[in-house]
Amino acid sequence: MLPATEKLYFTDSYARHFEARVLRREPLPDPAPAPAPQGAREAVILERTLFYPTGGGQPHDLGTLGGAPVLGVEIADGVIRHYLGAGFDVAEGALVAGEVEAERRAEFRAQHHAQHLLSAAAFRLSGKATTAVRLGEGVSTVDLAGPLSDAQVLAIEDEVARIAAEARPVRIHFVPPDELESFGLRRPPQVEGVVRVIEVEDFDRAACGGTHPRTTAEIAPVRVVQTERVRGSELRLHFLAGRRALLDYRAKAELLRSLAAEHSTQPEKLAAVLAKQRRDAEELATRLRTTQRALHALWVPQWLAEARAATPAGAALRIARVIEHATPDDLTSLARELASGGASALLCAQDEQRVHAVAAAPKGAAPANQGLAAFLQGFGGKGGGSAEMARGSAPRAAAAALENAITRWRES
Ligand SMILES: [Zn+2]
Repeated sequence: MLPATEKLYFTDSYARHFEARVLRREPLPDPAPAPAPQGAREAVILERTLFYPTGGGQPHDLGTLGGAPVLGVEIADGVIRHYLGAGFDVAEGALVAGEVEAERRAEFRAQHHAQHLLSAAAFRLSGKATTAVRLGEGVSTVDLAGPLSDAQVLAIEDEVARIAAEARPVRIHFVPPDELESFGLRRPPQVEGVVRVIEVEDFDRAACGGTHPRTTAEIAPVRVVQTERVRGSELRLHFLAGRRALLDYRAKAELLRSLAAEHSTQPEKLAAVLAKQRRDAEELATRLRTTQRALHALWVPQWLAEARAATPAGAALRIARVIEHATPDDLTSLARELASGGASALLCAQDEQRVHAVAAAPKGAAPANQGLAAFLQGFGGKGGGSAEMARGSAPRAAAAALENAITRWRES
């Protein structure tokens, strides 16, 4: 049985370089089974390591070991396995040099510590315990035994900002079980034996195996960017800390600036400008509907009169037209009115992708659905409906082809 790996990151979460003896190399089949990440060639077990393994809601470190890329780091029964890509060539028993990717470590160190402070502030201000934690590649979350009001969430954020601004020292303790009770932990430990405790001076003590900064200053700024109800009454805070929060603020400020510029206004006036645009658009839509009704009232009697003049006595009245910028609903209401005036109608309109067609027929005339189906088939489209009213569409067609088809329908 392998001994538990010595966790160098337990006492120093800033160190990047280390040396350690290779205890075992475990070749992996291709493809490697979980938890090995894609592309992993072998798992390497060291006597000691700076690489943080997946755990406590925090993703593993990345970096290199003996020049080979570290793709994943996992812990089981105290033994840490480094999952390596191609290029590792150090024998069992020999020393190997490792290097942890510092930027990623710093990023998660900040997210993790921010989570401790958010949890501690929530507990101190509202008595709500933390039920779950997830530190993501993008945004991170902490779930609280809510509910909490928006004002309470802002108060928690303010409290974290204050503790960060005071640059309070963060200390690591290794506490024997019999001293734990007097240590006053916010959260009971999930491990037995000696417990690692992260202390924020005069603010918080929590059992934790994760990576933390030297002072609280490192995590600023911390922003709760979204809240979400989960599992009934619990509240999930989505948050960003440190450089992530700065980059998010920068991106959002830039988005607001460019949106405002696009609307020829200042960011602080954007909401009012957009509200006015919405009111204007609604008014325009109302005016458009009124105008359309008036236009249809003019068109329908005019088209019927033209059709009657052009149709021999006793023959069926047939009206076919392409109407620019009409919606399928416009076509439908026009066709219905023409049919109640005694004419069979076929009306079309084209948008960028498709030609839309509507057919209507008075009782006793040739069925609207059959005529429409035949018409659309010519363009590779189809439609459906009844003998009185049918709708359908086809891929966009050349204007001349459409006019020809319409004429053929009228004369059929
Ligand atoms: Zn922790």
